[in-house]
Formats: sequence, C-alpha cells, structure tokens
Amino acid sequence: MNHHTSRRLILKGLVASAIVIGFDVCERSWVTSASATSIFESLPALDGVVYTDNATLTAASVDFGNIVHRQPIAVLKPGSINDIVQIIQFARRHQIKVAARGQGHSTYGQPQVEAGIVIEMSTLNKIHFVGTDRVVVDAGVVWSRLLQQTLQQGLTPPVLTDYLELSVGGTLSVGGIGGATHRYGVQVDNVLELEVVTGTGQIETCSQWQNRHLFTAVLAGLGQCGIIVKATIKLIPAATNTRVFQLYYDDLATFTHDQRLVINDERFDYVEGQMIAKDTGGWRYLLEAASFYSPPNIPNKSLLLAGLTYTQGTEQIEDKTYFDFLNRLAPTVAFLKSIGVWSYPHPWLNLFVPNSAVETLVSEVAANLTLADTGQGPILLYPVKTKRFQLPLFRVPKGEIVFLFALLRTADPPNSSTVTKMLNDNRKLFEKNRDLGGYQYPVNAISFSFQDWKQHFRPFWRYLISAKRRYDPDNVLTPGQGIF
Ligand SMILES: Cc1cc2nc3c(=O)[nH]c(=O)nc-3n(C[C@H](O)[C@H](O)[C@H](O)COP(=O)(O)OP(=O)(O)OC[C@H]3O[C@@H](n4cnc5c(N)ncnc54)[C@H](O)[C@@H]3O)c2cc1C
Repeated sequence: MNHHTSRRLILKGLVASAIVIGFDVCERSWVTSASATSIFESLPALDGVVYTDNATLTAASVDFGNIVHRQPIAVLKPGSINDIVQIIQFARRHQIKVAARGQGHSTYGQPQVEAGIVIEMSTLNKIHFVGTDRVVVDAGVVWSRLLQQTLQQGLTPPVLTDYLELSVGGTLSVGGIGGATHRYGVQVDNVLELEVVTGTGQIETCSQWQNRHLFTAVLAGLGQCGIIVKATIKLIPAATNTRVFQLYYDDLATFTHDQRLVINDERFDYVEGQMIAKDTGGWRYLLEAASFYSPPNIPNKSLLLAGLTYTQGTEQIEDKTYFDFLNRLAPTVAFLKSIGVWSYPHPWLNLFVPNSAVETLVSEVAANLTLADTGQGPILLYPVKTKRFQLPLFRVPKGEIVFLFALLRTADPPNSSTVTKMLNDNRKLFEKNRDLGGYQYPVNAISFSFQDWKQHFRPFWRYLISAKRRYDPDNVLTPGQGIF
C-alpha cells in the first residue's frame, strides 16, 4: 500500500445503494471507486440501516457531557442482533473500532468512536416477556418504558437510577445506582441473564450459571468485552404509592449519622441525600427517604422518623404514585431542555468515598465550594452497603458502607475556561479521594490514564485483561472509555 491508500480504512458495501469502499481519514470522506471493488468482500445485507450522513455522524459525536466530540464514519441503527454481529465482524476484519450507544448520557465521550462505527442501540427496543419475577428486554430499551410495562403487572425492577431515560445496556455497562441500592445492590446485581455480542462477533448467552466469566466481565464492564443486546432482569412486587420524606440537617456529621442509621435498619425503601446551598452562604444537608406502600397499608411516620435528629420543623412529607416518584426528574429535565441548559457541558464527577473518610472529605469540599463550581448542579451524598454488591468490576472502597458523593456540574457559562476549571477540579478531587482509598464511579468527565484504570480495577485488572483477550482480542470495542 502506498502512503495515500494506507491512510484509508478500507470498507465495502456499507451503504446499500452505493458501493462505498473506503474512508479517507485525512479528508474525512468516503472513497467510492468502482475499480477497486475486487479487493473487497461485500458486507451481507443488513436488517437495519448504516448511516453516513453528516447530521447522523454529528449526533453520534455528542453526548450529555458535551465536552468530547469524536466523529464516527458510520452509524448503524440495527434491525436485528445479527446486524451487530455482521458489523463487529466487518469492523474486526478492517481494524475499525466500534461502540454501542445507548442514550448517550455519558459525560466524556464514552460512547463515541473517532473514525469508527457507532451502534445506536435505541432501535433494538423490544420488551420480549414480562414474567412473575423477571423481564426480558432488548438492551436499547429505556428504563422508563420498561418500568411502565412491568407496573401493568404490579412488578418493578428492584433498583432504578434517578433518571429513567437511560438505556438498559448503558446502565448495565456501568453499574446503575439509586435510592434502593442499600437494599438491593446496583442494577447489575439484579440481572439474571444476558445475551451479548462479543468483540469477535459471537452471540453468547451468559449468567451466573452459564458462561459466568463473560457475565462478570460484561456487567459494569464498560463495554470492553461485548455489546449487551438482551437482558433478563429481576422483578419484585411493586407498591402503588410512595411517601417521600425530606429532612434537613445543618450539620454534616449528624446527617451522615442518620443516613447510616436508616440504611442499617432498612426502615425506608429508598435513601439518598444531597448537599444544598444555604441562602446565607455555606451548605446544609437533605436526607431524602421514601417508603413505598399500597393502601390501606399506610407508612407509620413516627416509626420511620424515630431517633432521627434532623432540624425540627424542616421536614417535608409528600405522597406520589410509585411511578411519579421514580420519574420525578422528568419535569426538571423538561425545564432544563426548554431553557437550553440541558445541552451545556456537564463535567460530572461521581465518587465512592470510604465511610471513614466521608466527613473529612466532604467538609473540606464544602468549606471551599461555591455555586459557580457546580453551575448550580446538584450534589448527591448518600451511603450504600457494599455487601449488596456482587460484581467484581463494579469498584467501590473497602468497608461495609461507602458513600456516593456526586458533583453533577453544569458548565455555566458554557465556555471552555469553565469546562477546563471543572475538569481540573474533578481530577484534584478524584486524587484526594483515591488517596483516602476511594474510587470513581466511571460515568465521569475526568482524564484517566492507563495507570489510573489499572489501579481502578485492581485486584481484578488481570481478570479484565484476560477477558479482553478472550472476548475482544483485536480490541475493537468501546475505545471511548480510554482503557485499552
Ligand atoms: C441525567 C442523568 C442522570 C443519571 N443518573 C444516574 C443514576 O441515578 N445512577 C446511575 O448509576 N447513573 C446515573 N447516570 C449515569 C448513567 O447511568 C450512565 O452515564 C449510563 O452509562 C448512561 O446510559 P446511556 O444509555 O445513556 O449510555 P451511553 O452513554 O450511551 O453509553 C455508556 C457506555 O456504555 C456503553 N454501552 C452502551 N450501551 C451498551 C450495550 N448495550 N452494551 C455494551 N456497552 C454499552 C457505551 O459504549 C459507553 O461506553 C445518570 C446520567 C445522567 C445524564
């Protein structure tokens, strides 16, 4: 190959109507030369469509973070699992990278692929079966739809994220934490079976009992060993209503003490918390807890609040339907979209802080943090129990309890100097927490080196490497995570 052709990633037959044989990386354009077709095998017919138009490619180069932009050369909207098999085998032959994109709610390019192929999972969105204790869904289904469907049979997944417009495949690739995590673990702990297309283009079924190595490499596996195409997720009986308690605290130690108390005795179904700016400057703390119930079984307020030392008179108690409670972010998101803030850059940072370090770290942050540092984005702080976590690649600090501490920043004003400052702040806080024995929850906007990943996955680094060698030997999958 001469210099010019070697700069081409040679493809063929990608677009049904025209024979596209290559992509010139420098020109960022397709090469269509009929004369050269003989050196290319043709891609088998697909059930879905491969798009190469600018609008589709540009859309796939943006995520919720709106910080990193990598333009793919093609976007597959699969019509079947077999399409994913074909595209991965094709990409492997031609040394092109591939990643699945769920809802693109990552914050730092995780679902993007420079000059590669993005697979838009949202076209694989069938809910196949709702049984008495499980639901079988395509990975492109979003949790809000899944929940609406299972609720028709009085059932719910045990754990849901705060925002329901995330894809099943997207959250199962990272973990999936929420207010019920102290009881049921993360979403990956509630998966019974997966269907996966590996980096070699094989379709494999895996579970705790079958093909376990793949199962544990894919759940919270950041898309490194396979693309989840179908999942069987546990269901439990759902209540119809929710009583929501909002309790305010002026003092961090009292707040975390009460949070630990309520997750230990499990008096609530749902426990989260936030750090909230005071009008007068400084911060106070909000314990958000909820009891799910179906009338006539009404939650007993005095039992639920017994022994809690929130600032008296600040408590707010509200009733919602179970679905409206879980879907409570929807109106806020609609508002943020309407004023354009939803598309501002979002340099988010989610950390898991060791129990013993949480007061020190959070009070240090609180002493220096201003609203400008988060662009008024929410700051989450709540404990979870590590004994509920079963999956090795979901990494949390040692100890029975760890805290999620999340600075969900919006770059406001949305310019590069705000973003750069927030990214630097993310890195500094990550390092401080790491040095205390903490971890990041890898959905963040943070620069992360090979060494950082090695440390993140230790002592399961070798396990991940061996899984990667076995299931994605040519390193085709999910480059946007920046691991391999
Ligand atoms: C508003 C908002 C609220 C959030 N709330 C929570 C929360 O409460 N709890 C929580 O845990 N997280 C939360 N997150 C983070 C979120 O769970 C992750 O960013 C998740 O990965 C996003 O899902 P997605 O479908 O948009 O995935 P994408 O951003 O599209 O993809 C995420 C990563 O997974 C890979 N991937 C996607 N689909 C598949 C698949 N089928 N198989 C293999 N790999 C795949 C992608 O290539 C990418 O690397 C929130 C994010 C936002 C923006």
